Order: sequence, then C-alpha cells, then structure tokens
Amino acid sequence: MTEPLVVGTATAQPGTIQYGEWEALSHPTGHTEFLPVIIAQGKGAGPCLWLTAGIHGPEHTGPTVLYKMITQDLVDRLKGTVVVIPALNPAGLRTMSREPYHAQKDPNRMWPDGKREKPPDPDKDAPSSLELAYKRLFQEMIASSDYLIDYHNAGTGSISFSFRDRVMYRADQDPEKNKAEAEALAAKQDGMLRAYGHTIINEFPAEKYIDDKLHRSTSGAALLVGKIPSFTVELSTGHMPDPAIVAAAAAGTRNVMRWAGMLESEVEPIQKIKVVDPGFPVRRRDTPRVKQACVALHLVEPGDLIHVGDPVAEVCDIWGRPLDDSPLRSEHDGLVLGRSRGIYYYPGDAVLWMAIRDDAPVVAPYPEGYFKDEEE
Ligand SMILES: [Zn+2]
Repeated sequence: MTEPLVVGTATAQPGTIQYGEWEALSHPTGHTEFLPVIIAQGKGAGPCLWLTAGIHGPEHTGPTVLYKMITQDLVDRLKGTVVVIPALNPAGLRTMSREPYHAQKDPNRMWPDGKREKPPDPDKDAPSSLELAYKRLFQEMIASSDYLIDYHNAGTGSISFSFRDRVMYRADQDPEKNKAEAEALAAKQDGMLRAYGHTIINEFPAEKYIDDKLHRSTSGAALLVGKIPSFTVELSTGHMPDPAIVAAAAAGTRNVMRWAGMLESEVEPIQKIKVVDPGFPVRRRDTPRVKQACVALHLVEPGDLIHVGDPVAEVCDIWGRPLDDSPLRSEHDGLVLGRSRGIYYYPGDAVLWMAIRDDAPVVAPYPEGYFKDEEE
C-alpha cells in the first residue's frame, strides 16, 4: 500500500473530506499563520488536482467556489484526490487587500522562478516570510499535483474567463527536447482550458510576461517550474461573488475532473454566463487609452465583440460636454473583458481591458538572457 497523501495536518482518507492546517509563518507577536487545507479523496484511484484561491485579499469568488464545490456527494463519485487551499493569503483576505500587510509585494508574484539558487545579496531585501512559505509549499504542490487551477477575480463586472500562461522553455540547452516537452505540456493545458469551458484569453507574450513576473504567479510557476498543466481563472467582481459565475466555475472545474478521468458523469453545460469565442486566438491588453484628461462614458459592455474603429466611449469634460476627440474608438478587433474602474481618466489611462488578436506563439523560448545570471 502506498502512503496516504499528507499536506500539513491533513491526511487523505479514501471516501472522505479531511481538514487541516499547513503552518506558513510566525508573526513577531507570537501568532502563527496557517493555510487551511482540505483533502477530498475518492475511493477509486485517479489523478491529484490542486485547487488554490485567496492569494489576493479582495478576490472572494474563488474561495466561494471551492467551499460550495467540495461536498461528500462529489467525493462519493470521485476517482483520485482534490487538494484545496482556499486561503493562500489569509492576512490579505482579513483586510481585503491585495498585498498582505506583513509582506508588501504582490503575493501572486512570489513563487519560485526556476533559476538556480544564488547566495543572498546583502544589498537586496531578503525574501519575506510569505515568499519562504510559498517556496516550501511549492515543493509539496509539485510532489503530489497532476493538475492545478488557481482562482482569481479580475475587475468589477468583467466577464468570467481563463488565462492561458505561455509555456516557455530553455533554448540555451537541449532546445529540441525542451521545446517538445513544452508543446506536450501546452497541449494538456489546452485540453484542461477547453474542458473548463469559459472564455480563453492568452497571457502577455513572453517578454512582458516575465517583466510582469507572471512566471512567478501560482499557475505560472506550477506550469513552468513544476511542469504541471495549470491555469488561472478570473471570476469577475471580487468583493461580491456573482452566483451565476460561482456555479459556472464549479461546473467548469468538475468538467476538468471529467476530462482528467476523475468523474464519470456527463459534461455539464456552462450556463448563465457569457462565453465568447472571437474566432481567433486572443491575448490581454489594456486599450484604448485616452489622450487627454477626461470623463469617459463607456459605450460597450463586457463580453461585446468589437472591431477597429468602433466607438467604445464618449469622452467629455467635467461639465459633460464632448471633447474634440470624442468618441474614443477601438484600435483592435477583439473582445471587451471589462471596463476600467470609474469614469475619470488621466492621459494614457486605458478605458477597457480587452482581448485582442494574439500573434505570439503559446510555446516560446524564455526571453534571451533569462538564465544569464546563473552563469556568473
Ligand atoms: Zn488575483
């Protein structure tokens, strides 16, 4: 018999849901921060799916989906194991802030980057306790996980969608083998994304992806460093979960389990949310941007398909009188993911989050020089 899966104080037991704590870090006040762990294991053998949420404090839909989805009824039908961590950033969730007060950096940019470890640089900030905790948790994650989904919220009123991280490979050593492996991983990731069934948006191309440290996001690190098929989902408004999106995310996740052979029932339709296929691959971009300080009154809605030249917002002064360059027009064919917050804009601010045609490959080498500091 193989050893049961243990994460923190939770030990998997076939046919049951087990609850436990994974000790993350100590506060100077003597308190310890743990991450809650839920292990749901079916009686039959099957893969291990990790589901994580709550790394950004104002994003409350992911935890809601996970609490509602993990039921004894699911376990009774399940083959394999689901490991759930619904609160990756407890301090952020307590204060509804993206960054925890004890580690003021985006926690979803703290996971291992795949580079060989170097001695600490005394002139640089040491990694925070949270970053060190994620480093340990990452080892447990990649040891047991076959697949991973990380749950987030984008902006108020945005559509529900999935982000496809680029699959980057090392081209500085054994490029053909690495590329073939990356392509196989991307194919699995694609199968998973399609099984989930919400609108699919590609992440930024490789250079910008690395610039924004998205390779150190939960799904980015699991995919690139852990080689685990993974993706991030964005579930619209964060501070007030939309019940239709909660239900559609739970259905999509169960469809991933079906795709992975963990459930045998019929695929569930994704209902009551907009699922948009523009007919070509798309990637995120914040666009169009206003040229002068203005009030922008949006003319399009999340989920709309728009074309180059379509008016997307009236731009006016504070008295509501149209400015010379009104209306603001789309520079791209694509899809409206969401409207930027509010109506008051400075020059250069984008009024929409869009998905525009993606000409960059999903499988790409790491940008040149990425591993350069390993050679020094
Ligand atoms: Zn987030």
